[in-house]
Amino acid sequence: MQQTAQQQEMQQAQRQQRRQHHQHQQEEQYSQDQDQREQQRQQEYEVQALRAILADTAWVAGPYSPPPAHGPPQENHHEHQQEQADGLPNRQQQRGLGEQRRGQGPLHWHTAQGHLSFSSKNFTVRRVTALQLSVERAARRAAWHQCACSAISLASALPAPDPSLHANHLISDLPWRINEVWRLRWGNKWKEIWWRLLLHGVPGAGGHGISWARGSACVCGWQVADTAPCVVRASQQREHVFWTCPRAQVALDILAKNLPPGTSVLPVHVWLLVPPNPCVNERVWWVVCLCALNAMRRLRFCNPQDLQEHALNLLLEGLKDFQACQGRQPSLATSLSHAHPFLATDANLNLVPHLIP
Ligand SMILES: [Zn+2]
Repeated sequence: MQQTAQQQEMQQAQRQQRRQHHQHQQEEQYSQDQDQREQQRQQEYEVQALRAILADTAWVAGPYSPPPAHGPPQENHHEHQQEQADGLPNRQQQRGLGEQRRGQGPLHWHTAQGHLSFSSKNFTVRRVTALQLSVERAARRAAWHQCACSAISLASALPAPDPSLHANHLISDLPWRINEVWRLRWGNKWKEIWWRLLLHGVPGAGGHGISWARGSACVCGWQVADTAPCVVRASQQREHVFWTCPRAQVALDILAKNLPPGTSVLPVHVWLLVPPNPCVNERVWWVVCLCALNAMRRLRFCNPQDLQEHALNLLLEGLKDFQACQGRQPSLATSLSHAHPFLATDANLNLVPHLIP
């Protein structure tokens, strides 16, 4: 009887092991599928970007076809016959090609016929630079997309089925926001961390895909999974340093306390600078998020006994510095109330930090 009970236990343990193994395999497969889909999307995006630039700057033509910018091509019976004989696009086809310049015409003809013409008038330094930077632009967009996906997944208790669509929506106005944040009258040292966070380039937080050494831990004691690939560990470190670490949470708690009751602060709000509540002025939210991101990093080197006080001081330091940089320009102050969270106005319409500890 005892032996039977032991056998049953062993069988149960084996079944459990098999279940775990199967689950692990499924998770791995899911992760690989996600990566493949993302790579495909990335490649498609790069091709589309290159195609769009080529369509704007170049067209394909035979050796005797004038560029469309020089006016409509003249009909010439002899040439027409010659073109047909050579198998080159005739005038009518070229006109159609001109109409397709914004579609996939030029690239299509380029691959089909091997002739690509560029107009010196249209081929400006600006466009050539755009052409040269198309790969870098695609890589930058992919990094933003990955950052947004990571922020979405962080907020859900279960693995997000496919955060890609939501991420695309979130990053659609990111170029505008980055531009506006960069135009804030404030030192770049406060803005740099956000720019780096979006591109996964914060040193010490998995930036540039460089993860901590295996076996090392965060100041709070958290350790990354040693068995995970380097890229995954680097991504987990960004999520930890700028969200799940208790030190980051101290700064995030202060943000939450200062918002209207019932407002949740999610990673997408802080990582992409999206205001969590319409009552909060978006520029003020950008400023306080930049202060919080800087504080999260600096809190890692503070005494653990006084984290709350340190976090408050670091946030206040940032807000005061921003206030000092504004001088007497009234644009932001006029749109803030006397009780606006984070930055308010006094009786003389001067900006003042307004932070509840
Ligand atoms: Zn930590």
